[in-house]
Amino acid sequence: MNGNLRVGNLFGIPFYVNVSWFLVLALITWNYGSALSGAFPTLPGTLSWLLGLAAALLLFSSVLAHELGHSFAAIQQGIGVNSITLFLFGGLAALEKESDNPGGAFKVAIAGPVVSLVLFVLLSTVGQVFALGGPVGAIVSLLAYINLALGVFNLLPGLPLDGGNVLKAIVWKVTGNPYKGTAFASRAGQVIGWLAIGIGTAAILRISTFGSSWTLLIGWFLLSNANRSAQSASVQQRLDGLTAQDALVDNSPIVAQQASLREFADEVLLNSTSNWQRFLVVDTEGQLVGTISVEALQTVSRDRWAVTTVGDVMTAETALTTIRSNESLLDVVQTLEAQKLSVLAVIRDNGQLMGLLEKQAIVRLMQGQASKINPVPAK
Ligand SMILES: [Zn+2]
Repeated sequence: MNGNLRVGNLFGIPFYVNVSWFLVLALITWNYGSALSGAFPTLPGTLSWLLGLAAALLLFSSVLAHELGHSFAAIQQGIGVNSITLFLFGGLAALEKESDNPGGAFKVAIAGPVVSLVLFVLLSTVGQVFALGGPVGAIVSLLAYINLALGVFNLLPGLPLDGGNVLKAIVWKVTGNPYKGTAFASRAGQVIGWLAIGIGTAAILRISTFGSSWTLLIGWFLLSNANRSAQSASVQQRLDGLTAQDALVDNSPIVAQQASLREFADEVLLNSTSNWQRFLVVDTEGQLVGTISVEALQTVSRDRWAVTTVGDVMTAETALTTIRSNESLLDVVQTLEAQKLSVLAVIRDNGQLMGLLEKQAIVRLMQGQASKINPVPAK
């Protein structure tokens, strides 16, 4: 997310706040500060503002505790936490990856609300046992209420909320298919998003007294996130079961190391519709040993093409990342994204080159179109 400031580390997890957070902090301080000075007229003005600020910071600590709940559950499963960020709509714990089983996903999802509800019980008990009154009592009961709201709201059963992740884990467990879980929980999230938008709109139009413009904003936030996860679920479902081999380029530009330049020129002509500018060179075993550009033909006079081999003029460095042909396309997409690549060399288990795989081909596979590719390989 843009506009994030790094504040420090929490249990080794980088901790960020979004710039929008300062606006919320100021609003909440003002809100609580004026509420406190209204409720306790004897309180000196500065003190009520300071208590307002303290309450606002404690509210954010509650959100943080909630995110740490998710984070610790993930760490327990060996999943790293990239960052925790506080922003306009709350908190976000960015995990390195998702749990690989529904039980694990359930634990990560439920851990946040559990922390919030435990804090609610603790704070309510403290308020009751010590019979806290005055401004401190007001802040403690407010915090208890906030943690209750955090726990309950986040348990609403639709993505991107925690309850949506719980629902996803349950559907995953029942169907054995994680993408079905995501698709179902996303749809539920879309319904919740639209409901919130409806409630917020009714409140703004003064049709109802329940909700506010904030409800509308939250609804929009939930809806756009639910739409995104619905989209990624359908992509994942399409790619599920496919491997790197399924996205191979037809007539990949491959030429044998021992072929003569004459034969290479014929190969280029054969592939002329694809307009390849660079070919992959394989040895007699089929292993990738280098690349040769079409331009290399011009460096050798035409009458020497028959006696010069591709191996004589090729570049021994390929600079291509290789992947196994049986690797799942979902993992391939991750590799392409992580390394910002557009093309990969696909090899068999024995190291033999099968051909090229292009990002564009996967995009077409996802769109359900037949693959027809006429690209120029990178480099
Ligand atoms: Zn949560």
